[in-house]
Amino acid sequence: MDVAADRLGLDIATHDLLRWPQQELRVTLPVQMDDGKVQIFHAYRVQYNTARGPAKGGIRWHPEETIDTIRALAAWMTWKTAVVDIPLGGGKGGVTCNPKWMSEAEKQRLARAYIRGVASTLGVSKDVPAPDVYTTPQIMAWMMDEYETLVGHHHPGVITGKPIPLGGSEGRGDSTARGGVYVTREAAKLLNINLRDKTMAIQGFGNAGQYAALLGNEILGLKLIAASDSQGGIYNGKGLDPKKVVEYKLKTGSLQGFPGADNIKNEELLELDVTVLFPSALENVITAANADRIRCKISCELANGPTTPEADEILHQNKVFVLPDFLANAGGVTVSYFEQVQNTYNFYWPLQEVQERLDQKMTQAFHGVYQMYLREKVNIRQAAYLVSVARVAEACKLRGWV
Ligand code: NAD
Repeated sequence: MDVAADRLGLDIATHDLLRWPQQELRVTLPVQMDDGKVQIFHAYRVQYNTARGPAKGGIRWHPEETIDTIRALAAWMTWKTAVVDIPLGGGKGGVTCNPKWMSEAEKQRLARAYIRGVASTLGVSKDVPAPDVYTTPQIMAWMMDEYETLVGHHHPGVITGKPIPLGGSEGRGDSTARGGVYVTREAAKLLNINLRDKTMAIQGFGNAGQYAALLGNEILGLKLIAASDSQGGIYNGKGLDPKKVVEYKLKTGSLQGFPGADNIKNEELLELDVTVLFPSALENVITAANADRIRCKISCELANGPTTPEADEILHQNKVFVLPDFLANAGGVTVSYFEQVQNTYNFYWPLQEVQERLDQKMTQAFHGVYQMYLREKVNIRQAAYLVSVARVAEACKLRGWV
């Protein structure tokens, strides 16, 4: 962001404003556990920038959650909503907790306590949360219900990622991977690569990674040759059937032992000579130490932050086309935005309409970034930052804030 701000020639006040969140809320939540004891949880909600619209961003429930990660993720959401040009700002929330050790009843009490704690900062025209790490559509449903109880009327747009019977959108489940697949298709066209029967590898076989395998194959004709999760990876140069791999992972909870595949280490998977790599697990997996060995033509970052800044430059020099995280994985927030729009109209779109509108948004966003990349001769991530930071800065200026 600093580099983009310098390059855009932002004045000091605008640059400084964009370096800080507008508002942060920390709350302490007493929640009764099933054994009758009360446990104290620390929780957060950050509105990073709302110049372009109400804040938007998920709620993470994680034992290592801190206000610092939430603040950073809220900043990222600001650039993400700006790069796809939806009229929203950036926000994020979290609770330091370990949901794996909590019963459904405890989770429900925590969800409701969280909403009571942060309700004053939420609302369809203020800040709209969504699911994130370890939070689910069911948790969103409890949260929406608590908010509606507090305000005394229906207000489904206060939260997205809801179950479909409560106002969730068709197409939300695979939207992150689908958006990534659409921008990969656009990048390949410009690079003159015909993706049909070319290869893909997927690091991180969770929600984003599994749908990338299915849709990469279905929409782009890519052949899956390797996939991995936290326990290791599998490889078959002749191709793996994505549907069967997904079924196997769902059934066994692991990829290990998938019939007809060899084992492969996560580090080896990243270095495979594939056309498209989908880093879909964690941050900081492509670093200065391995960037020189990354051989894919396109790296579509479905994970947040998989590539370090040093590695980014190396990939750029080696002509690996990186689709940066906050562009590549923006399909999720885009369909969340569609959910809000449908809630406001109280009129719901069929799946095909959601997918067509998502395609339009992602394609437009990709080409906006690509034009900036050609014009400014920076790497693609920097081009995406230039687009986003310029849009947010312009909104701050037009409002007369700076
Ligand atoms: P998830 O928990 O469903 O899946 C993560 C997967 O990564 C799991 O299969 C896990 O086993 C695997 N994994 C963990 N450590 C690994 C390692 N060292 N090597 C290889 N695999 C490893 O999570 P998700 O929702 O798919 O999110 C994955 C990434 O995508 C995260 O960075 C997330 O922030 C990002 N993202 C997801 C969405 C979304 O809508 N799901 C939206 C935007 C960004």
